[in-house]
Amino acid sequence: MHEASIALSLIDVAREVLREHGAARARAVTVRVGQWSSVVPEALEAAFPACAEGTPLEGAHLSIVRVPGVGECPNHGPVELDVTRGLRCPLCDAPTPTLLQGDELELDELELT
Ligand SMILES: [Zn+2]
Repeated sequence: MHEASIALSLIDVAREVLREHGAARARAVTVRVGQWSSVVPEALEAAFPACAEGTPLEGAHLSIVRVPGVGECPNHGPVELDVTRGLRCPLCDAPTPTLLQGDELELDELELT
């Protein structure tokens, strides 16, 4: 159900973009999902078609771009994090409390018809 409500809010954002462009429908939508966001891409893909039914996004193809987590290590600068290790530098194990990317959930592209 979590992913269904996320799909619905993405559809809301997309409808707003369509309105701004005076477009009736979208053919494809690309969404960026961070590896550290709480969203399961497969579940979002599964929930999307039913949520899009009856909206301008009905039948649109959903693509998900997975964004890896990147933290700021005091010794190494930006490092790609390993989800299973938590917010720690994979090289020196220093805590990297700041997530530079990887928690996003956003509309990336909308292909209008
Ligand atoms: Zn480090």
